[in-house]
Parts: sequence; structure tokens; C-alpha cells
Amino acid sequence: MKVLVGHFSHEANTFAEETVSFEQYTAKGALFGEDVITQSEGTSLYMGGIIKACREENIDMIPTCAYSSAAPVLTRECVDKMLETILPVCRAYKDELDGICMALHGAGVAEGIDDLELYVLKQLRSIVGDKLPIVVPMDLHGNVSEETAKLANGVFGIRNYPHTDKADISYIAMKTLARVMRKEIEIETKIVHLPLLIPISTGLTANAPFPEINAYMDKQIAERGLIYASLFQGFPYADVACSSASVCVVAEKGAREAAEDIAHFVWERRAQLRANSLSPAEAFDLAEKETKEGYIIINDMSDNPGGGCPGDGTHLLREMLKRNLPGSIFGFICDAVAAEEIWKHRPGEKIDLTLGGRHEKIFGEPLEIKSAEIISLCDGNFRHNSPNTFGLPSKLGKTARIRCGNVDIIVASVRAQTFDDRPFMITGADIRDYRYVCLKSTQHFRGFFGDKAAAIIPCDPPGLSTSNLASFTYHKIPRPVYPLDENVEF
Ligand SMILES: [Zn+2]
Repeated sequence: MKVLVGHFSHEANTFAEETVSFEQYTAKGALFGEDVITQSEGTSLYMGGIIKACREENIDMIPTCAYSSAAPVLTRECVDKMLETILPVCRAYKDELDGICMALHGAGVAEGIDDLELYVLKQLRSIVGDKLPIVVPMDLHGNVSEETAKLANGVFGIRNYPHTDKADISYIAMKTLARVMRKEIEIETKIVHLPLLIPISTGLTANAPFPEINAYMDKQIAERGLIYASLFQGFPYADVACSSASVCVVAEKGAREAAEDIAHFVWERRAQLRANSLSPAEAFDLAEKETKEGYIIINDMSDNPGGGCPGDGTHLLREMLKRNLPGSIFGFICDAVAAEEIWKHRPGEKIDLTLGGRHEKIFGEPLEIKSAEIISLCDGNFRHNSPNTFGLPSKLGKTARIRCGNVDIIVASVRAQTFDDRPFMITGADIRDYRYVCLKSTQHFRGFFGDKAAAIIPCDPPGLSTSNLASFTYHKIPRPVYPLDENVEF
């Protein structure tokens, strides 16, 4: 048996003003052709699970591409170029294929395309017709439309945030596809949308109400004989018509009733999904009171490059510099212009520097740094050590660590969020030597740091991945929606 495999994932923050070119989208290392298999096998990424299932089932894989990113809206040219790595391969093998397993995100938006997943599935269906089984593993932040669920035979959302179960869920998706391809089962996918926006800050699935929801879904799977059930939290920073939380069920029969039942279970717990936010100053006040030994992480949620933000926001770094507490490190700010400037000098030299604040005003004014000492320069290359992304190569471009008073600042060239200690390590810094560690990420950093930090204090300054959803002007999401509107009914 033969299956077309791939992973084309994009999570779009439509409130960001920029667009993302193919070169920017693939800058951190997209995989194409045979590399998709050789570089992904054994990893915790979507392709890792797909490959594992195919090996077990003795299924031949026809690879296409593998890449994921969170950023502003993609250019049309970027989408066309990515599809050039999928559609011609699909066309060449269409008469030999027994199925397609294509991991997508669910919150992809491109110029003129509000529902990127639907667009990709329509292109695939136009080649293979409506009979060939297609399964789609997806991100928990997917805004999944009714039409997308219709075009795919099976939609499988991951359950964990941080996303530590990508390979596990894509494995289930591929194993299910194998059964469909062998004609052992026929499956349907039903989706029920909730009038509910969940800010990514409250989406941590170790916290209530998610363990209870996941246990309820598992109970439904067992009692009703379903194949799979997922809660998509949705991505509220994409202002599109299908932006909302939803429940998706894959089953041989009874998918609709089960999805409705689970959706009501989630709806009854909506009050637990409201966010509360701390400013950088409030976060530092709490950090200074912490008595536990070890390092304290203050994470910037509202300039999260993983939520499509530039990563050069200055609100939190400004507060860190103002406090100037011994043992402070900021890892990292994304500013290619500043990194280039630092790289004109050698370690040990001192420089004046304009840092950050080069994108949108909401992220804060640029910082004027005086007489910073250059500690180290490096190429920004490493492999992730986080359970979410273990083994994934990362390229931050020209990277440097500079010191201003008591504060070490890591400056990188490519926008990315911090998943683990590697961005510190490549600059020669061991975070265990520090007390106050600031980074830009909403939840994914917890996969690595969750059981290592003495305390984690999220802060939410103005930005485009803030949990204060009322700060956005929405045009396309269906209203009324909780928690923005009063008296929302489901
Ligand atoms: Zn996600």
C-alpha cells in the first residue's frame, strides 16, 4: 500500500500588519522530498508518528514537505511554492495511492485565503477525487471549518498544550488510515463549533478544566466505541469566520451526537477559561518575593513569536533593565538589525545599540542601550531539547549575548519562541547560574522548564498574542461569542 505523506502547517496572527514570504516561512529549516523521512524519523513531530505507523503497517510513503510555523499571514506566492512541493507529487502518484496523511495546522491564513487547510484539501481532492481516504492530524489551536471536516475522512487534533503529543496523535491518525485503506472500517468526522474564544494563556492542558475534559472524551470514546475525539481550543488571533473552539469526533457512526455531548461538557466549564493578566512590573514584584531556590521564569505571552508576533517587543526587557537585579538574563529578543551591528565587533568590546521595537508600536518603543559589553557571538544553530520538539533543528541566525549592568541579553536574528535551554547554551550561558530568566513564549516553554524552574510567572504587556481579547477589533468571527459578549447561548 502507498500513502502520500506530509506536514504543511501555519498558524496566522491576522492582527499583525506584515505578510510572510516563502523565504521567511522556511527560514528555520523546512524539509522537502526524501529529507522529510530521513530527518523526521524518531522525532516527536507529526512526521515522526506518521513514519512509525507506516513502518509498522508496511506502507510505502511518498513524501512531500514537512514544516510548521506561526507568523503573520502568508503571501500567496508562499502558499503556491509550498503546494508545488505537494501537488505535483500527488499528481504523479495519484493512480497508485491508497490514501493521504497530511498534517495541517487548522489556523492557517494567507493573502486571499482565510481557510488555508480547506484550500489545501480542495487542491488534493481536485487531483485524487472524493473517494481516496484522507486523514489530517491537526494542532489544538486549529480553527477548523465544517467544510474542512467534510473533505477529510478523519481529523485528529492533538490533546496537549504544550504540544508534546504530536507524534502520538499523528500515529493514531495514520494507524486509522491504514485500517480504512484495508477496508476494515469506514469513518466519518463531525465537528461542533462553540461560541467560545480561548486565549492561549488559559489553554495549558495540565490546568483545569482540560484534564476533566480529556477524561470525559476518553470515556465517550470507550463507551460509544468512537475512534477519536478532540477539543480544538481554536486560535483567537486569527480573525476569520471559522475562528472558535470546536469539538471534533471521528467514528464509524454516532460522531455527531458524541461531538455535541462533549461540546456541552466544555461549554459548562467556560468560566474557567477566562484569563487574568499581569504587567511586567507586577510580574517582577512577584518574582522578587519568591523564596524558593533556583531560577524564576517570567514569560512574555503577548509578544510570542509562536503566536505570530515579531519577538522584538521591549516592554518586559525594559522592566528587566530598570530593575537591574543581579542574575538576570533575557533569552531572547529577535532583532536581525541589532544582531548584525553586534557582529561587527568582537567579544569584550563595548557598544551602544538600538534594540527591539522595530515592528508595530503596540510592542513598545526601541531601547537605547549604552555601553553594553559583548560576551559571545554564535551562529544560532542547535537542535531542540524540549519534549514538544525534540530533535528539531533550529536556526536563529547571527546570535549574540551582551551584558548591560546586571542583565545579560541574548539577541537573535530569526523570530522564534524559546522552547528550552538551548538558545542560552549556544551563547555559553547556563540558566542555572541565573535567578531571573525572561523569555518570549506563552506555554510551549513549559514542556522543558515546567518541572525545572523554581517559579513561572506569566506576564501580559500590550501585544498581539495577549490574553486580553477585548483589546482586538474583530471583523469576521461570528458574534456573539464568549467572553467578549454578554448572554451568549449555546
Ligand atoms: Zn498550537
